[in-house]
Amino acid sequence: MTTTAETAVPTAHLSPILKQATPVVVDHAQGSWIRGTDGNDYLDFTTGIGVTSTGHCHPRVVAAAQAQCAKVIHAQYTTVMHQPLLELTEKLGRVLPPGLDSVFYANSGSEAVEASIRLARMATGRPNIIVFQGGFHGRTVAAASLTTAGTKFSAGFSPLMSGVHMAPFPYAFRYGWDTDTAVDFALRELDYLLTSRVAPNDTAAFLIEPVLGDGGYLPTPPRFLAGLRERATRHGIVFIVDEVQAGFGRTGKFWGHQHADGVVPDIIITAKGLASGFPISAIAAPTELMSKAWPGSQGGTYGGNAVAAAAAVETIAVIEDEGLVENARVRGEQMLAGLREIAPRFPRIGDVRGIGLMAGIEFVTTDASGATVPDSAAAIAVQQATTGQGLLTLTCGPGGNVVRLIPALVVTEDEIRLGLHRFAAALDVALGGA
Ligand code: PMP
Repeated sequence: MTTTAETAVPTAHLSPILKQATPVVVDHAQGSWIRGTDGNDYLDFTTGIGVTSTGHCHPRVVAAAQAQCAKVIHAQYTTVMHQPLLELTEKLGRVLPPGLDSVFYANSGSEAVEASIRLARMATGRPNIIVFQGGFHGRTVAAASLTTAGTKFSAGFSPLMSGVHMAPFPYAFRYGWDTDTAVDFALRELDYLLTSRVAPNDTAAFLIEPVLGDGGYLPTPPRFLAGLRERATRHGIVFIVDEVQAGFGRTGKFWGHQHADGVVPDIIITAKGLASGFPISAIAAPTELMSKAWPGSQGGTYGGNAVAAAAAVETIAVIEDEGLVENARVRGEQMLAGLREIAPRFPRIGDVRGIGLMAGIEFVTTDASGATVPDSAAAIAVQQATTGQGLLTLTCGPGGNVVRLIPALVVTEDEIRLGLHRFAAALDVALGGA
């Protein structure tokens, strides 16, 4: 075949809906750092949205994945079992709360969320799921139906999955209350929902994040989680905790819900940090509950991929050997304290909050009536200004008015200090002290 200069060259381009939060194109990355194709080094406080838990390309995770690639890349585990999945299940058994001894694997957070909902409905024979305002659980149609972290996640493709009901989240800052008042209110409203509209014996599950992620980086108060656990037990409702973003050490405990003493969920959903960047997710539940799913109702071709599973096994080993859960706690305290020192200079910063290596900075302004309202323009301006300072950040929150910082679990004291310095410089550029 001959080609001439006149022959049309077929071209393709990325979907125009994929808006990039930063202009950076990564060339290579290591630890907390990304080298862009522009030749610049960026301190990465986005970690692929909380995924690269052991830092970019941790040498042990790289070696484990490379070795597994040379042995077997894929053997669908309902057809032919493979060693990495057996090892991963054994390792997860050591970090999961006692009793959650059965694990099912998928590829993404959304798929695992769907698996948990299917399981809860099959186990209870009940239709309704209660979610909490500002929760994010994914973008597949069912997961989007469970998501209330912003209308953009579900508008335009109705009808959504039925049987989903939203209860308030104790968002103390938004209401202008202290945490206890917000928790009392949210629990009262939940009880009201359970008596006025959604009968407990028609309710399959409560679904909540230990820290609202895309909904604004709001730690769920321990007393609220305890209140949900108590009501779930009382009514035979399955208590599902979505640890996709907050799990795997990120909050300074292995699981985010462990900040609520004595609270053990019926189902834990995990993904993101599980394999340092390889796509794999899981749900864990007591065997008795897990066995209520009908054979064939759960699963998918790529779920529990061998290379991803090998990377997950090594991720857990690195987290344990390098003390990364404790590092997340200590470096998280440093990050939050630093942000709280910076914040008073900027009146548009209404709230600084977080836990472990999840920090949210909420931007607000006042409207004509003098009420405090979300200021997404300020948050976006600051997030974009951080790139210019060599720091990568993201926004979140229903109004997009929260900047979130999600460093890797391996982040060092110096890197947090540098990140805070660059963040303060970006605030000056974007807001000029306003
Ligand atoms: N649950 C939570 C708490 C999440 O943060 C996310 C992703 N941001 C999901 C579920 C969905 O995960 P995925 O994008 O892998 O489908």
